[in-house]
Amino acid sequence: MTRANVAGVLPEQVEDELRLVARSRHPADTIIDLGDVRIGNGYFTLIAGPCAVESEEQISLCADEIASMGVKILRGGCFKARTSPYSFRGLGLEGLEYLEAAGRRNRLAIISEVISHEQVDEFARRASILQIGARNMQNYSLLTAAAKSKKPIMLKRGISASLDELLLAAEYILAQGNDQVILCERGIRSFQSDTRYTLDISAVPVLRLRTHLPILVDPSHAAGRRDLVIPLALAAKAAGAHGIMVEVHPSPEKALSDGPQALTFKQFEELVHKLNLIPQN
Ligand code: PEP
Ligand code: MN
Repeated sequence: MTRANVAGVLPEQVEDELRLVARSRHPADTIIDLGDVRIGNGYFTLIAGPCAVESEEQISLCADEIASMGVKILRGGCFKARTSPYSFRGLGLEGLEYLEAAGRRNRLAIISEVISHEQVDEFARRASILQIGARNMQNYSLLTAAAKSKKPIMLKRGISASLDELLLAAEYILAQGNDQVILCERGIRSFQSDTRYTLDISAVPVLRLRTHLPILVDPSHAAGRRDLVIPLALAAKAAGAHGIMVEVHPSPEKALSDGPQALTFKQFEELVHKLNLIPQN
């Protein structure tokens, strides 16, 4: 008996719609080439930085730290889509300036989230990768605007999105002629409450089978607590992820967003050493 999936269509119909994203149509792995660093098959790429850019000093301390550990891509949110309107929502374009300067000084590529299509042009000029957050995975007008910039895009999985829905969202980007897409598993909502979300580790091997696009894992948002970030990151590499994106902060207890899940610099160094012990799959 055939069964409709969450997207309301039959699985074989979804595979049919994945004209550009499916590995069955395009067997060769897509590799994102940022010059100094690549993301995709054969590489394991780390992206690190704070949840949000909070000050020039904070982002520059993060940039120095990650660069000293050999990391080539700095993250930092400038416009933050926070659950509560009263939470810190980022420094906006001022934050992007600090992020850009910290990246330039350390020869780091930078990634930051765009939450609205008015931001796309400015971010496309200044960032190396545009991030589309979990909350916007199915914001198709934002996906289309970001795609048109021709910049690499990291598409994070929505908290309740099936893999079919994630892949179809990626199809929107590729359908605009932009195949520079990285998928990111960042945890989904489940019934258990020990962690902020539940890292769907099976998403990694499933996505590797179903698509040629690179797959990253964000263990920070999945865990929501720093003591679980390292084991989840190691699991992600063992499962075949092409990289990890983690949050780090010079003083996590003072962070303006996501402090409980931010790694200290010492933990970050431990993470890098432990990741190096895991063979790449
Ligand atoms: C982030 O990476 O800064 C973020 C907000 O994550 P997500 O969109 O996965 O919640
Ligand atoms: Mn965060």
